[in-house]
This record gives sequence, C-alpha cells and structure tokens, in this order.
Amino acid sequence: MLTVAELRAAVGRLPRVDLAVLPTPVHQCPNLSRELGIRLAIKRDDLTGLAFGGNKTRKFEFVFGDALRKGADVIVAGFGSQSNFARQAAAACARLGLKCYLVNRYDDRARKVGIQGNYLLDFILGAQVWLVPPEQLAEARQKLAGELRAMGHRPYILNETEAVLGAVAYAGCVAELVEQLPQAPDYLVLASGGGTQAGVLLGVKALGLPTRVVGFRPSPVPDAAVREQIVAIANEAASLMGLDLRVGPDDVENSGDYVGEAYGAVTSACLDAIELLARTEGILLDPVYSGKAFSGLMDYVRQGIIPAGSRVVFIHTGGQPAIFAYAQEFINHGGYRMRVVEDISRGILSAAQAAGE
Ligand SMILES: *Cc1c(COP(=O)(O)O)cnc(C)c1O
Repeated sequence: MLTVAELRAAVGRLPRVDLAVLPTPVHQCPNLSRELGIRLAIKRDDLTGLAFGGNKTRKFEFVFGDALRKGADVIVAGFGSQSNFARQAAAACARLGLKCYLVNRYDDRARKVGIQGNYLLDFILGAQVWLVPPEQLAEARQKLAGELRAMGHRPYILNETEAVLGAVAYAGCVAELVEQLPQAPDYLVLASGGGTQAGVLLGVKALGLPTRVVGFRPSPVPDAAVREQIVAIANEAASLMGLDLRVGPDDVENSGDYVGEAYGAVTSACLDAIELLARTEGILLDPVYSGKAFSGLMDYVRQGIIPAGSRVVFIHTGGQPAIFAYAQEFINHGGYRMRVVEDISRGILSAAQAAGE
C-alpha cells in the first residue's frame, strides 16, 4: 500500500509536459443528492482547461511528454468526426507549437451535421483535418505519417496505444482526489471502457481505498473483452510506474448496459440524465460518454446496486462540445422550440397563455 505522496512520486517518474489546470474542482451536488438519495459529488475533469477540457488533457501531459522527448514536430491522429481526443490533441499542439494532422472518420455524424461540435473546434484550433472512410482509418494514419516523413517531418502517431499513459494520469487523478475529500468515497463512477478506468482502479488499489470503481463504457463491446483490456492497461501502467501491484479481472466492474444501439447513438435515458443534472446542479454532460454513464449511475441507484446513502463521486470526463453536434436529438427529445413573441404589449407570460401554451 502506498501513501498519496508515494503514488504521486510513481506518476512523476514519467516524462510530462504541463497542459492541464490541476487540481480540477470537486463539486458537491446537494440538489441531485436529495433527489437520488445518495451523497453525490462530481470531480470536474471536464474543467482540465484545454479547449473545453476533458479526460484526454490529463493523459496528454504524458503523451506529449513522450512525443517531445522523441523529437516529434508534427502529430498525426485519427478518430471519430466528433472526437474529444482529436479536439484536445489539436489544442495541445497549439499550446506546444506542434502541427496537428487529423484523419478522422467520415461517419454518420459527419454526414448528418457537417462542421459542428468538436469537428468545428478542430478547425478553429488550427488542425489540418480530413475525413476518410472508417475502415481505412488506420491505413490513412500510416500513409499520412509517411507523407509527412517524406517532407522531412518527424511525425508522432497517436492511436489507441497511449491508453497506458492515460492510466498513469488517472492513477494520479486518484491521488489528487483523495486529498480533496475528507473521506474516501464508497463509489467512483465514470464513463470508460479503457485507460481512464484502468488508472482509477490502479490508484484506488495502490492507496488501498475501500472504494468501488464502476465504469460505464460508450461502445457495445463484450464484457470479457473490456475486462481483459482494462486489466492489461492497468498492469502495464503499474509496471511503467514501478509499482509492485497487479489488477485482476475481478477488480473490474464495467457495464455496457447503457450504450444503446451503438457508440454515439443517443439514448433517451442519456438525454434525460443530461437534462436532470443540468437542471439540478447547472452541470452539463455529453451525449456520447458522460451522459450515458450518468444514466447508468442513476439506474444503479434506482435498482439499489448502489445503495441509498452511499458516498459517490462521479468523475466527469468532459465531451460537452458534442452537445452541439446532437442539437437535433436534444430538440426532438425535449420538444424545444423557438418561442417568439412579436407583440410584447400584453406581456410575455400572458401572450404565451393566450397562444395556448
Ligand atoms: C475518451 C473519453 C472517455 C473514455 O476514455 P478512456 O480513457 O478511453 O476510458 C470518456 N469520456 C469522454 C468524454 C471521453 O472523451
């Protein structure tokens, strides 16, 4: 078992650049706590500070630390068109004076909404961004890196492999969090099917906290595969940090029950959860990751899987720019419409009443 200082020192062994505004705040949620019958707080990793923040910023401190150490001058990455990863990578590149080349997926969302949300921010942040057929993404990344090399650049390719550095970062987040709380929480809940949960789990284990880590994944991946992946990432991160500690499959609690039809396909429960947190605490979730995880948390409480009275910290992993790429889904779900009052002489509420609203 490690002290917080020892855990921080283990995290500090890796090369790192300064990108995130830390520590991120912990917000108590008295109104929603009352409504749900738990003691809820939110660790605001949506406020990591890099172009709308999110969990990638913490991880990029280590990823870009590695890239700079290897002498990279350009970054190549490719994910979904609404990728929070790509947007935070573009912002990190701007901060560090690197060129950012993105080959993202020409996916349904891009077809539906075009340049909006994260995709819009990629442009504003100065990234070069192309969309390619989804099945050719990996090859496109390699081709682009080859072309950049031929031009004399030293590209650093970001793909899924840096999940291990994300785990290192999130072990560090646990160290940060326990110093902010009077008492370890009963539950840490988050959106993750990979590195972030692996890191949180590792941090909890390293410190010997009596805390259960519950993850909700964003994709319909089989349970065994997710478990295996999280275990592998956590243990690789433990080795990198020089920790004599192993995570096993039984340590992993991750549910795919709240994904809906597919990655990025909104669910009604997710949109309800987003509205509820927004209207009780003024905090926004995203429709792809954190909103679905929060709908899972609410259902776990409803079912008693998370018992009444539990101290729960939800780690908010960010992603809110995607809200704007899902405007139509929110509008349809909530029945939002423009209410224009051309003649205000009778007042606003009276005019609405007269119009039968
Ligand atoms: C990327 C992302 C996650 C998942 O992170 P992992 O490290 O892959 O688990 C969760 N929430 C948001 C908002 C994200 O952008």
